[in-house]
Amino acid sequence: MSQQDLEPLDVEAIRAEYPILEREFSVASPTQRADGEAVDDGSQLVYLDNAATTQTPDPVVDAMSDYYRESNSNVHRGIHHLSQEASIAYEEAHDCVAEFIGADGREEIVFTKNTTEAENLVAYSWGLNELGPGDEVVLTEMEHHASLVTWQQIAKRTGADCKYIEIDETGRLDMDHARECITDDTAIVSAVHVSNALGTVNPVSELVDLAHDHDALAFIDGAQAVPNRPVDVADIGADFYAFSGHKMAGPTGIGVLYGKRHLFEELEPYLYGGGMIRKVTFEDSTWADLPWKFEPGTPPIAEAVGLHAAVDYLEEIGMERIREHEEMLATYAYEQLDAEGDVELYGPEPGPDRGGLVGFNLESVHAHDLASIMNDHAVAIRAGDHCTQPLHDKLGVAASARASFYVYNTREEVDELVAAIDDARQLFA
Ligand code: PLP
Repeated sequence: MSQQDLEPLDVEAIRAEYPILEREFSVASPTQRADGEAVDDGSQLVYLDNAATTQTPDPVVDAMSDYYRESNSNVHRGIHHLSQEASIAYEEAHDCVAEFIGADGREEIVFTKNTTEAENLVAYSWGLNELGPGDEVVLTEMEHHASLVTWQQIAKRTGADCKYIEIDETGRLDMDHARECITDDTAIVSAVHVSNALGTVNPVSELVDLAHDHDALAFIDGAQAVPNRPVDVADIGADFYAFSGHKMAGPTGIGVLYGKRHLFEELEPYLYGGGMIRKVTFEDSTWADLPWKFEPGTPPIAEAVGLHAAVDYLEEIGMERIREHEEMLATYAYEQLDAEGDVELYGPEPGPDRGGLVGFNLESVHAHDLASIMNDHAVAIRAGDHCTQPLHDKLGVAASARASFYVYNTREEVDELVAAIDDARQLFA
């Protein structure tokens, strides 16, 4: 890694490419609200809800708008110029994503709607056909519903069982329990790379190796990893790996399923229709080459152009620098919140196995009330179960608050978060 890679981010220059961050919201302080006073000025947005969706920088918006202004057409190699251009742009987006995550070419990259659809694709194509009574699907207690609900329901339909690798009191996976859970009965291990609720960075290569030692497949949910750290699917060794464009400075409406080529070749299509076939007769059909076999109908073309631009944008900043920036902010936030004394923090203490988000609860204030007070300060955080209800049951809370960071966030914004917490404490005292 070059020294340049390790230089801190020029956050001011980065922020200039996100006009949305300039937005101001007129909000009432608790005293103003109590007195029924009108609000006179606006507060600038502090956007700390990046684990849900990141903001979109100008280069990505411009790439999509240029596409619509200049090249918009349907793909699948129509004869005319615009269709050729759109097809090339769509295909090149696959190449760019493949290179970004270390896949072996566009054949291993299927565009889906999002991570959730990528999970469903494998669960339906592979799970429904391959699972049966006696088979086990091994998940973790910190799975997002995208993975947990999908495998749970496919297991119910096929007679397979789900097992959950437990977390320990630090919010890390209990790897001894992982070794107990993953056995010769395991058909697939599906694990989240970075937990969206705890921030834990899981030892995914180790889980993949355990799965492979027992001839099981491994699916990794990288929705909170690919946007925030260098990811190389070949290094990790997973059979499938999924993530979403809208969490990595890209557009909504597009996600990625990486799959090893030989597995994609063996799998049945998940959805049928035009664009994914080679030959159709009244009796039967055969399938197009990879990855098109899994992309029926008109695909998300402008979104693919946007995702390509997002990958270029992130690569230019440098994924290692992004990881360091987020680690710095998460550490600072964790320490500030911990120093408050009445804030319960979830997940591991700051370090290399914590990603760029902090989940917490303020004693005696419900997370939703806290988020609402934050909103009064124009601080956008998320409160709820973060699509991890069973994990929250295990933690013994119905909901938690979550602040999550990206390339444009600053330490000053963390200070605003903490100031808003002080305000909430006063209000509920
Ligand atoms: N997996 C994880 C870890 C997530 O954080 C999310 C979204 O928050 C998802 C899956 C689902 O992503 P999407 O809603 O883009 O399908």
